[in-house]
Amino acid sequence: MPRALSRRAVLALGAALPLLRPGAAAAAYRVGSVTVTPLRDGLFPLQPAMIPAADSPAGRALLTEAGLPAHGPSPEPVNAFLIRRGARAWLLDAGCGTVLGPGFDRVTAALAREGISPAGVETVWLTHLHADHIGGLLTPEGQARFPHADLVLQDREAALWSDPAARARAPAALAPFFDTAEAVLARYAGRIRRVSGEADLAPGIRFLPLPGHTPGHAGLLIEDGAERLLIGGDILHSRILQLPHPDWTVIWDTDPAAAIATRRRLLDRAVIEDLTLTGMHLDVRGRIERAGSGYRLIPVS
Ligand SMILES: [Zn+2]
Repeated sequence: MPRALSRRAVLALGAALPLLRPGAAAAAYRVGSVTVTPLRDGLFPLQPAMIPAADSPAGRALLTEAGLPAHGPSPEPVNAFLIRRGARAWLLDAGCGTVLGPGFDRVTAALAREGISPAGVETVWLTHLHADHIGGLLTPEGQARFPHADLVLQDREAALWSDPAARARAPAALAPFFDTAEAVLARYAGRIRRVSGEADLAPGIRFLPLPGHTPGHAGLLIEDGAERLLIGGDILHSRILQLPHPDWTVIWDTDPAAAIATRRRLLDRAVIEDLTLTGMHLDVRGRIERAGSGYRLIPVS
């Protein structure tokens, strides 16, 4: 469990949001016959203290270079994705909903703009069970927002968040995360499909385990002919800070050493295989190049 996680840091997700504008969500794009639509749930104000190594001269320099205040915050998106092929549609994550305070919960409206009602969502794939990814599965009253949807997630992720011993071991500040995960697992009971390891979710769409941020954290590889897109889950919370410094971990990482190793492995794979990368907290998608001891992202449009 995160060592440095404070209740203040968890609550800070909802603070300072009036200072930030959500910004326009990115437009839909194609990966072969698959259409990917980023759904912007809102922006969270990332503080350097959430990436402790960034609370440093090097971190302040990177924020300043990016045109941001040296001490933050750095507004970072919270995304879900709508993934469609032909008549089929799937949702990847569901955003914060209302569980982390005001300023989020725009996924349902974004789906409506795509002509999809909550009752029309059949399947939600989940990268992991942190509240900024699953809060949107619940209504403000705490009921299932998607009454007919099945949830698909890694077995290790479901096991962690439904384990009373894990909850007892976790810092008190994580209690709200356990509350949200437990509520989701209860409201969708009987409609949860656990998979283990790499799993084909649909033709050409594969679940990729990316352990470290949480034990069952996973991304998605979409492949159609020569076109490929990697949605790397929470492999990056700040491209400004963590691409040049892939060893800089966030306070929410369950296993920081594993999170670093997984980030480097995935970014190396993106370089070697020339994969386009995006994520739940990335405002763009792009190719990855090595740069010094880290990486850089070259946006593609
Ligand atoms: Zn997240």
